[in-house]
Formats: sequence, C-alpha cells, structure tokens
Amino acid sequence: MMILVLNAGSSSLKASVVDAQTGAVELDMEGSRLLDAPQLTFSDGTEIHLQQTGHAEALHAGLSSLKKLSRNVKLAGVGHRVVHGGDVFDCATLITDQVEKDIEALADLAPLHNPVNLEGIRIARTLFPDIPHFAVFDTSFHHSLPRRARTYALPQTLMEEHGIRRYGFHGISNQYVAGRAATFLKQDYRSLRLISCHLGNGCSVTAIEFGRSIETSMGMTPLEGLVMGTRSGDIDPGILAYLNRQTGMSAADVDHLLNRESGLKGLSGSNDMRDILARSTDGEEGAQLALQIFSHRLRKYIGAYAAVMGGVDAIIFTGGIGENSPIVRHRAAQRLDYLGAVIDEDRNQRLQLSTGEDVIAFNRPHSRVQLLAVRTNEQLAIAKECIKLIDNEQDVNRLPAIPVAISARHCHLTRETVDRLFGEGYELTVKKWLSQPGQFAANESVTVVGPKNQLERVRILGPLRSVDQVEISRTDEFFLGIDAPIRESGKVDNTPGCRLIGPKGEVDLENGLICAWRHIHMTPADASHFGVQDRDVVEVAIRNDERGLTFGNVLIRVSPDYLLEMHIDTDEGNAAEISSGDTGVLDTSAAEGQLVRRAVSFA
Ligand code: AMP
Repeated sequence: MMILVLNAGSSSLKASVVDAQTGAVELDMEGSRLLDAPQLTFSDGTEIHLQQTGHAEALHAGLSSLKKLSRNVKLAGVGHRVVHGGDVFDCATLITDQVEKDIEALADLAPLHNPVNLEGIRIARTLFPDIPHFAVFDTSFHHSLPRRARTYALPQTLMEEHGIRRYGFHGISNQYVAGRAATFLKQDYRSLRLISCHLGNGCSVTAIEFGRSIETSMGMTPLEGLVMGTRSGDIDPGILAYLNRQTGMSAADVDHLLNRESGLKGLSGSNDMRDILARSTDGEEGAQLALQIFSHRLRKYIGAYAAVMGGVDAIIFTGGIGENSPIVRHRAAQRLDYLGAVIDEDRNQRLQLSTGEDVIAFNRPHSRVQLLAVRTNEQLAIAKECIKLIDNEQDVNRLPAIPVAISARHCHLTRETVDRLFGEGYELTVKKWLSQPGQFAANESVTVVGPKNQLERVRILGPLRSVDQVEISRTDEFFLGIDAPIRESGKVDNTPGCRLIGPKGEVDLENGLICAWRHIHMTPADASHFGVQDRDVVEVAIRNDERGLTFGNVLIRVSPDYLLEMHIDTDEGNAAEISSGDTGVLDTSAAEGQLVRRAVSFA
C-alpha cells in the first residue's frame, strides 16, 4: 500500500510517496528556504523555484506537483507528522474536522510546529479529498511516562492550569528503532529494557521499559535534555532570570538564544556535527570542547536511564549523528563495563548502515548489553501507522493504559437504611463525582461497629442501592474483629453483618460486610482490545522501584456503562506502593491458550 507522508516543519518541508510494506520511496519532495527563497526539489529531478515565500504557498505548490507526478500511483492515504499531541492524542488517529480543531488548540504548546503541521493537513485534505488522512504524533509514544517522570517540581495548580508537564518528542523515531532493535535481537519488544539515543539536529534519549517510554530527555518542549545543533538542552533555569537582570533580555530573546543560538552552534560556531568533528581532529579547541560536552551529557543520561530501569538490555544509537559518527558512539559507550556494555571499537569504527543492513551491533561478544546502531526511518514509521489504522489493526504494543483507583472503606445503602440513619426521606448530597458514570461519594458518612472496635466516618457512596453493602479492607476486618469474605460487589449472601450508626439512628445489618474482590472495569470495546471477556480472571504485575508485586485473581468486569479502571483497596495499594491515577497495561503477550494475562503498572 502506498502512503503519502507529509512532514511540514517550521523551516523545511518534506513529502514522500512510500510503500508502507517495504519502505521503498516512489517519489520524494524536499522544500528549502521557505521563508526567503523557496525551492522545491523532487527525486525525479524536477526543481521549482517559487515566487512567493511562506509555508502555505510552498505546501500548495509542492503537493499539487506531487499529485501530478504520482498520478499513476494508487495512494491509500496521507500520513501527517504532527509534533504535539498534548494530553489528547496517545496514538495516531484518523483526521476529522474535530481532530483539526484539537491540533489547533495545542498550538500554544508547539507554536513553531503545530500551526504549520495543521496548514499542511488542511491543504492536503483539499488536494486529496478522497483518501483518508492520518495524524501521527511525535509525543504520543511518551504518553506512558509515569507520573514521577512526567511531572516537574513546580506548584501543582500552576502546572494543571497551563498544561505544564514533560511530553517528550522523537516518539515516532524511538518507537520505530526500538521495534527494529527487538526484531534484530529476535526478542519480544515488550520484554526488553532499551535506551534509545536519537542524535540528529535535535537530540534526545529515551528509556523504553518493556515497550513503554518511561523516561525521556525532552520535556514540555524539545529544548530540554541533550546538547543539540542549536538548542542548549539542560541549563540551570536560574540563568534565564540572571540574563534578564544583567542584560535586559526579554523572554523572546532568551527563547531565541536557547533554541537557535546555543548547543553545538553556541559552543563552536557550527551546528553541524560533521564540521565539528573535522575541526576537532584539526585541534580546534572550541570544536573539541563542543564534542566533549555533547558526549559527556549523553553518557550522563545513559547512566541515569540505566539506573531508572535497574539495568538495560540494549543501547540504541540513531539519527544523523548516532548512525554515522563512530567517535560520538565511542565517547558515549566506552567504559560502560559496569553496566555490562562492552564496546567493540573495531566494529564501531567500521560499521556502515544501509537500507539492507539497518541494524548493526558493535558490542563485544561477551557484552551482556547490546550496543546497536539503527537507521531510523520516520517516513516508513508514519506510513506503517497509517496502514494499521486503515486495516483497523490492533496495535498490541499500544494497548490503552488502565488507570488504577484505590478505594478507601465505604458503604452502599438502601433507601430504608438511609431513612433510619438520617431521617425519613433524607437525600444524600454529592461531595465528589467518581470516575464510574453516575457514581458519587456523598458528604454523609456512618460509623461501622464491630465486636472489637468501631470505624468512624465511613463514606457513603451514591446512588442508593437495593442491598446494603459495607466494603472494608483486611486491616479494617482485624480492627473491627469481623472476618468478612472476598466478594464481588452485590454478592452479599452469607456474609457477616455489623451495626451502622448515623446521626438519627442505628441499623443492625444482618449481612453485607465484604472485602471487595479486586477488579478491572472496562467497556466491551476495551475487552475486545485486550482480548478478555467479562468474568475472566487475570494477573496484574505491579512494577515499581521498591515494592513491586503480582496480584493474582483480578476479576474483569465488562459493561457499556463502565469506564476503564482497575479497583483495589487501600491495603492492596499500600502493599504495592501505588496510588490512584497510576496506570497499568494488560500485556497480551501471554502464550496462546493461557488464561492468565498480565498487566504491568508503573507507579
Ligand atoms: P539529522 O537531524 O538526523 O538529519 O542529523 C543531522 C546531524 O547529523 C548533523 O549534526 C550532521 O552533522 C550529523 N551527521 C550527518 N552525517 C554525519 C557523519 N557522517 N558523521 C557525523 N555526523 C553526521
């Protein structure tokens, strides 16, 4: 299937007609100097010099010519690279008018990129109205970043108000090279811990643990992290205020400085690594320092990410620098023996990536960690994402994350019990709506009395039900002196009772006291996505730094009225040291026919 892949950048424009199965490029177009002397160059030799400057003109002229030149090719769709998908897009998506609006609304987060991406989408949709268009986002691979990695240490309310968090970029490339590395290693992508170093004009490192990005060096914008062509990467944020005080530089000036005049360019005068390497070999000090700082920062991140994952199986080098510079690979990967990574210097020097050989290992045979140079191919990655959407194929590597909700002790009451505890006809009042549709935590609470002790302020959850039910943890049971069974909600036959005390009276329940059976709520669509059915029992492995554990016997509950969420109680949450809002994914890699499936949750 042939896909037109469009990459409309802030200062460049690329479009290719790609065979999504083989990666063969039928036709290529590149636009340059769009803002002063725009020129379009096509792989068949055609060159067009435009009279008018600007993205819109170049996009229109370029795509119209591509349409003519590729008239004999049957295009199955158009894939658009979109830089920022914000919190909204966690995977590639079919473009609709609403999707266009959503991308537009994210412009503040990527002012240089998203508006141009959108312009490309709009022009392409008018020129190619009869085929589907897809948006593939640079950020969506990093949706899996755990809260501790994606959150900055700034006031929570400020971050929430302004969407400040680590989003991460280079996701399309990262996901692609990680997949290629796994295929090369003949291993399941979801069983590997990878550190992927994308080193091009923009540079980033990503820790990919069992198929999911769990740390990445670019942050809210593509400025954070490694030293790049013209971007500074990490600096002390105090420098910004200092510069403002000392020189009067405005926010726009500092933005320009850090994005356009820093990095390799700021250190050496050139943003081109080839140039820096040549000058460094000639003994030029500025170039040598630039190379040292670049490699030092990279090594620092590799060590940090190995620490974050508690080890690493392969380190990937990709992008113009990572694929082509043995010196940078050597500087980053030497003396990593302590990690189990031993470089083969000869192989590193000699390796030449090509279309036929797009992954090459350069570690010594006894190295436990594989060192890999991998040729990235974002166009092919985008085309493949489009095909998945066209074929409606389930992407097993990108199953939706399941949020975990921790239930504190609570009760569900009948009309009759509320009447007796709070007075005839009393209406519960809503304190907080819960994630499951229509459910709420009430302002009202009761006291639960057992033979040994009593629990004050046990929250009532609404709406009212047809049977009374009190859900407590094992710890609560010991405290109250009652042995309540593990039960599914609503199944209260043969369970113990207890006394409830409210402001207007008391009720002695004959039964209804349970310890809730841990479960995952999901819709039928989620269930088919995960390959499970209502009442299946699955296994959930919780992985975190200190108290990882596996929960057996987790019940799947499927209903169109549910929202995807795993429910556990406070004892279970504490035992695994996770809290509400952490997420997990069902891992369908379990052998066929095996009933137990696994979910991995990263606290
Ligand atoms: P990219 O953004 O992936 O195209 O990468 C661009 C960067 O790769 C620039 O800094 C180039 O200087 C660098 N690069 C390309 N080829 C080589 C090479 N043979 N050796 C070192 N760096 C290279």
